[in-house]
Amino acid sequence: MRKKLIAGNWKMNKTPTEAAALIGEIINQTSGATCDVAVCVPYIDIPAARDALKGGAIWLGAENCHHKESGAYTGEISTGMLKSVGVNTVIIGHSERRQYFAETDETVNLKTKAAIAAGLIPIICVGETLAQREAGYTDALVSYQTKIAYAGISEKDALNTVVAYEPVWAIGTGKTATDEEANETIGVIREALRCIYPGAAEDIRILYGGSMNEKNAAGLLAQPEIDGGLIGGASLAAEKFAAIVKAASL
Ligand code: PEP
Repeated sequence: MRKKLIAGNWKMNKTPTEAAALIGEIINQTSGATCDVAVCVPYIDIPAARDALKGGAIWLGAENCHHKESGAYTGEISTGMLKSVGVNTVIIGHSERRQYFAETDETVNLKTKAAIAAGLIPIICVGETLAQREAGYTDALVSYQTKIAYAGISEKDALNTVVAYEPVWAIGTGKTATDEEANETIGVIREALRCIYPGAAEDIRILYGGSMNEKNAAGLLAQPEIDGGLIGGASLAAEKFAAIVKAASL
């Protein structure tokens, strides 16, 4: 039985003061959660978020990392640095990073390895564009993205990772994959994991992300393959995020 995980991706939103206030509301409104909950916040908000989380059960996450430990990489943050300030999970290869910051399946693999080496739980994003879906490439593409992301990673380490299936056309658009579409493609991702990790694939959590909100969460989360959600817009309002956490706690 895979425990569900609801992870917020705040993107480029909230100052440290605002972050602390939102986390206070989230803590108050998710006290009955039986699923795992994470907030992935901008780098600048991490210390304030850590203090507001007060060592409680909610995971502290970052939205990106660099794959090198240190060096001449102006503007970048390493996984060791994240670990040192209390982060325990990191989003890797979000489609906005792939689209605007030239991240590739290969850099996703390097970052995943760096996260694992630092003791962080990577949330690895895969997903197709609308053109790829309409051309019938979804299954081949998400399988390929998954296999490259995990290249060279042991089964034991893979158990401490999470995949997020995020159809690019559903992110921030208000369009959601139907419950069945999301379930089916996540099944394809699990099949790809089964090829690499026959003994672990059933235990690796695969989330759905793409305009999940307080209204559609229950239907998506009731699907057998969907192990939680990566939530963008709806994670910025405590009551919406808490309603999704509640739907995952049933
Ligand atoms: C995301 O940023 O990962 C995401 C799923 O965004 P939204 O929920 O806003 O579509």
